[in-house]
Amino acid sequence: MGRSTSALKRPENRHGSNNPMTRGDDICTALHRATGLVVDAGVSIAPYTTLKIGGPADFFVRAPDGKSLGRVLTAAENLALPVLVLGGGSNMIVSDRGFRGLAVKVETPTSLRNRGTVIHEDGQEVVIQVEPGCQTAGIARWTAQLGLSGLEWACGIPGTIGGAIAGNAGAYDGDMKAVVNAVTFWSPGQASTGFPSRICTVSGGKMAFGYRSSLLKSPGSGVVIGAELRLGRATPAELLQRINRFEASRRARQPTERSCGSVFRNPPGKFAGQLIEQAGLKGHRIGDAQISLLHGNYIVNRGAATAHDIAILIEEVRDRIFVGTDIFLETEVVLSGDWSTDGDPTNSDDAREGPDGVGVAAQPKTDAATATLGDRNG
Ligand SMILES: Cc1cc2nc3c(=O)[nH]c(=O)nc-3n(C[C@H](O)[C@H](O)[C@H](O)COP(=O)(O)OP(=O)(O)OC[C@H]3O[C@@H](n4cnc5c(N)ncnc54)[C@H](O)[C@@H]3O)c2cc1C
Repeated sequence: MGRSTSALKRPENRHGSNNPMTRGDDICTALHRATGLVVDAGVSIAPYTTLKIGGPADFFVRAPDGKSLGRVLTAAENLALPVLVLGGGSNMIVSDRGFRGLAVKVETPTSLRNRGTVIHEDGQEVVIQVEPGCQTAGIARWTAQLGLSGLEWACGIPGTIGGAIAGNAGAYDGDMKAVVNAVTFWSPGQASTGFPSRICTVSGGKMAFGYRSSLLKSPGSGVVIGAELRLGRATPAELLQRINRFEASRRARQPTERSCGSVFRNPPGKFAGQLIEQAGLKGHRIGDAQISLLHGNYIVNRGAATAHDIAILIEEVRDRIFVGTDIFLETEVVLSGDWSTDGDPTNSDDAREGPDGVGVAAQPKTDAATATLGDRNG
């Protein structure tokens, strides 16, 4: 597990210091000074993903709220430190080599995680403010209990509000696009968002929401540090009934093993899961990584799967579907970290992340595949 700021082993020279013996200590100290948060070194990312896969992050910090998240991101940028933002880790595959930079776990304290603050209400609608680390499913259930409609579809979605907004999570008849009133986000100096200031609040209409995508989905674009959701009104009983229906449907078709949700985006007019099933790939397995027997678009970790196993499986699926249908399946899941598995993992020159990396800066590469896995993400 991680080493704390005070008991830090001398780190490798991975971040361009003139003095390789102190660079890691300096980074932990500088981050701690700028944010007041505890910074650890060499922390395994696996426990923070739903697949329970992923190597160590050079540095690791927990941001309990949007304000501290913003401070961490600015401090990391000042140190030219690549950042990997971890919400619930329910839509990402982190490489076995981990992440060369700072992993920021966005983690709202338990007592605040499943609730927001009502900031406006009238007879028809209510606007609530939520932290980026709030649990999407928790907020959905809390609002339903209050008789606020619009998030019933989200009761079965793991992860955080920040991750859900960035990826425009959705299910059944709903998605984040339909409920986001405004988003406050932090953007790096060279952000591609087009908005001038580092922290800005924009209306939901300016978030460029699309099918599992948004303005903030692409690497280096920005990080959600707060949001407002606009909800309607209904009776809690009605909402609970809808939730129960969705949950029953999910129980019937969603695997219970460790997974990262849908691996591939649905191609236009088709379902990726159906194509995979028709290709006879359900149950196909590399090591402990397996195409779910229940749902073709889920890869499950049956115990000791590695990111490498999953990468091979993804490529095999792609090849088989492409050969059979001429359709190239793009990944929906985000591939993060250092995928340069063909080099010496201890060689600092081999790290692929650039210094620009707020968001996921990695260029995913695997020796199992000639094509990169993540660069065609939507
Ligand atoms: C069993 C299961 C079922 C699922 N069902 C669905 C479903 O029905 N519909 C659906 O849409 N998804 C589904 N998912 C996928 C996933 O739960 C959602 O996409 C979820 O919203 C991701 O949120 P997260 O906090 O876990 O994001 P993470 O996995 O932590 O991160 C995903 C990406 O978002 C970025 N990110 C995280 N937080 C922020 C932030 N604050 N600001 C900007 N970027 C951020 C990360 O850096 C990463 O690039 C499912 C997953 C599982 C495991």
